[in-house]
Amino acid sequence: MADRKRARRPGKRPAPRTSPPAIAPHVRAVLAAIGEDPDREGLLETPERVDRAFRFLTKGYQEDVRALLNSALFTVSYDEMVVVKDIEVFSLCEHHLLPFFGRAHVAYIPKDKVVGLSKIPRLVDAFARRLQVQERLTVQIANALQDTIRPRGVGVVIEAMHLCMIMRGVEKQNSVAVTSCMLGDFRDQSQTREEFLSLIKKKHDGLG
Ligand SMILES: [Zn+2]
Repeated sequence: MADRKRARRPGKRPAPRTSPPAIAPHVRAVLAAIGEDPDREGLLETPERVDRAFRFLTKGYQEDVRALLNSALFTVSYDEMVVVKDIEVFSLCEHHLLPFFGRAHVAYIPKDKVVGLSKIPRLVDAFARRLQVQERLTVQIANALQDTIRPRGVGVVIEAMHLCMIMRGVEKQNSVAVTSCMLGDFRDQSQTREEFLSLIKKKHDGLG
């Protein structure tokens, strides 16, 4: 970066720092298009608020998932199943930009490496804070773990409710979509898969 600056011809002005294109003016246009008055008091700040909200809800695009996991890889001789369940998931469906939300359950069986437990919810977040479909979100989480930890297998199950279905009356209230991705031992060995599924079915294990 610094070298490139020095190599510039003298007298040439540095390129302006690029900031992301503004969302707010488009939100204002949407408000007008649905028949609202963007200038009424309650809506005056709304375009800026929506701008900030969308940047927050899609900040996963800025996350380097591989670096996140690699920063907390440890060599161990543990080869039992590691399960992190009931991870809160908040995402936006890419078809309607409406939320879907629920819980993710993530498991893997280490070969020689484990990842710090706190990284798993952060991994889920990194992919959930993007425009998503639930199926792809599930697969991306599983593949990221498979590619970085190289475990014996990975299982990911997500249970979520989609406001685009519920609010529009496409589905009955409280209907939950369940997706799963099973890799390695979780795919090939029914006993492993069953163990995972029974672990995530147990509610709270008496802890809460
Ligand atoms: Zn949708």
